[in-house]
Amino acid sequence: MSTILTGDRPTGPLHLGHYIGSLKKRVKLQQKHQQFVMVADLQALTDNVGNSQKINDNIIEVALDYLSVGIDPKQSTIFLQSLVPELTELTFHYLNLVTLARLERNPTVKSEIQSRNFQRNTPVGFYCYPISQAADITAFKADVVPVGADQKPMIEQTNEIVKTFNRLYKTDVLVTAECLFGECPRLSGIHGKQKMSKSLNNAIFLKDSPELIQKKVKQMYTDPNHLHISDPGKTDGNVVFEYLDIFDENTAELDELKKHYQKGGLGDSKLKQRLSSILIEHLEPIQKIRRELEKDKASLMDSLIASSEKARETAANTLAQVREVMGLRML
Ligand code: ATP
Ligand code: MG
Repeated sequence: MSTILTGDRPTGPLHLGHYIGSLKKRVKLQQKHQQFVMVADLQALTDNVGNSQKINDNIIEVALDYLSVGIDPKQSTIFLQSLVPELTELTFHYLNLVTLARLERNPTVKSEIQSRNFQRNTPVGFYCYPISQAADITAFKADVVPVGADQKPMIEQTNEIVKTFNRLYKTDVLVTAECLFGECPRLSGIHGKQKMSKSLNNAIFLKDSPELIQKKVKQMYTDPNHLHISDPGKTDGNVVFEYLDIFDENTAELDELKKHYQKGGLGDSKLKQRLSSILIEHLEPIQKIRRELEKDKASLMDSLIASSEKARETAANTLAQVREVMGLRML
């Protein structure tokens, strides 16, 4: 049995990238493994300073999405990062194990800084979030972390911290972890190029209404040289086909459509209609559960607080071990 730690930032509701990138995987994993699922509100604040209202409002949105897709609070421990203060202390100890040069090499943080236009004004907390993520993973002694491709450098960073710590203190209290990718480690946003992201205005959210899904699919990037229906079109790099490849179960028909598109004679709007219907149909059962859960947000929040207490016990055990091997006074 593995121990799993995974989570999402409450910067908005969850989107299709989360769904096929990791949520579906978590629903399966929870049946056979010990799984901790974290709503990373502190991490979300690192690039949303002064906007704590937005983060607080989205905690419940993320929790609703978890339950709607089938993450079961009886099988997974869903918790709120800020209710486990042991994670913050662990982060503080790990900060001393990482050099500035190492942080600067993280390609995901680099591109996130660029897309947020931070330049020299990057909050130090944001810069260091891979270290706080190492604390989240190691506090639960997770050996498996289901993530999207953008998080691979974070797991590498975590494992370096684990090895440095264990070597320095001649211990084995911390364990290394491996990434587990879902069926699509990186779903593009509707405009292509960048990954689908809550913060980039390019996402189809799991809770989007059929009208909104249709509107967003209409805006999707296809082949800019496919100007007339009769023109031959490219399927590679075409976001509509990227999504159809994932969500369209009729693969034989999809193959035909691809050939037709490449040859010319098939318009974008027909394909987009097909994709919209598939997405709407796919999301309908998830949205039905969400509508029910939305009726009692207060008790959902109560159970999140209660299970955070449970998560805290595990993190406190690890922190006690860490303090002991570091030779710190025990609390
Ligand atoms: P933000 O824009 O606020 O960073 P996000 O959309 O990137 O939000 P996160 O909460 O940062 O979402 O990521 C949560 C998890 O979902 C991570 O494991 C991440 O790798 C995965 N993930 C996020 N976006 C995608 C995507 N487009 N495709 C596949 N996996 C994704
Ligand atoms: Mg992100």
